[in-house]
Amino acid sequence: MVEFPQAGFVPNPTPIERLDRLSDALGVDLWVKRDDLAGPSFGGNKTRQLDFYLGAALAQECDTILITGAVQSNFVRTAAALAAKLGMRTIVQLEARVPVQDELYQSSGNVLLNQLLGAEVILYPEGEDEAGADAALRARAEEERAKGSRPYVIPLALGNPPLGALGYVDAAKEIIDQKSDFDFVAVASGSGLTHAGLLSGFHARGFAGRVVGSCVRRDAVQQRVRIRTVLDDIEALTPATKHVPSELISIWDGALDPGYGQIGPAAFSAMTMMGQNEGLVLDPVYTAKVFAAIPALVGSGEIAKGSRVLFVHTGGLASFFAYQTDLKRMLGVD
Ligand SMILES: *Cc1c(COP(=O)(O)O)cnc(C)c1O
Repeated sequence: MVEFPQAGFVPNPTPIERLDRLSDALGVDLWVKRDDLAGPSFGGNKTRQLDFYLGAALAQECDTILITGAVQSNFVRTAAALAAKLGMRTIVQLEARVPVQDELYQSSGNVLLNQLLGAEVILYPEGEDEAGADAALRARAEEERAKGSRPYVIPLALGNPPLGALGYVDAAKEIIDQKSDFDFVAVASGSGLTHAGLLSGFHARGFAGRVVGSCVRRDAVQQRVRIRTVLDDIEALTPATKHVPSELISIWDGALDPGYGQIGPAAFSAMTMMGQNEGLVLDPVYTAKVFAAIPALVGSGEIAKGSRVLFVHTGGLASFFAYQTDLKRMLGVD
């Protein structure tokens, strides 16, 4: 019996590649997990997460997906792409979460892709009200049901079964099967489904490396509480996982400033360092803030020289050009 139906979008194992020039520059053995290559429409970590939500939607014979996120959310854009491939409609709700009025932020990148992919876009005026955003989505789902559709809501707030985390419980096994000797893994910690899923999957398999979640939305104190909650919810959801002790939760928030969806100097410097040494592009909202942790923690000695380090590239590239006003200013090219 399949306990959790999946929609079939999990990619073949994404590559783990060595970053030779940055390894030399930082004095560590640095690798990247290319989950930016996972799935269609610019890919990213949401493909593995959505595989479980869309699997549930298919099992329940739903025809309309409702999902909420920030204006430049990769989650909603990936949902629109995968739902299109399943012949389902998508209603995406965009929350005013980032205090940016820039025209490109509001209309380019993921917003334009949602439109191209055929999603209906609705707006939610708050950005820090996860329960309210979910309630608005559920209200809309009821309207759809009354009109004869079969809606499936993908909720955002804590307290819902963390189905998406199962994608990263499985990805932990994929990583171990590819290369198991990492001392240190750096990954984004936003909703926490990726971070907690990896932690849980690694722990269940006895992986000894340390996993550090880099904050993209909340500070380290708040994010630690959130990750504990998501870990407990994963444990409640599936007996295939083991209890993860709180000592294994490591959080770094040194590149969070100035806040969610905004680029500060640490994130910008991570983008130029990665681009100019390895030709690999990071996104300003998530992966720049994750990669920034590695030089910072090597500098502070928390990552010892010579360590084997894995940077998990979770994608996000669809938002790159939506941030071009900031990026041009920081590059000094405008
Ligand atoms: C959503 C997202 C994250 C954060 O993942 P969570 O599971 O929400 O913590 C990281 N990177 C990218 C590119 C994302 O879109």
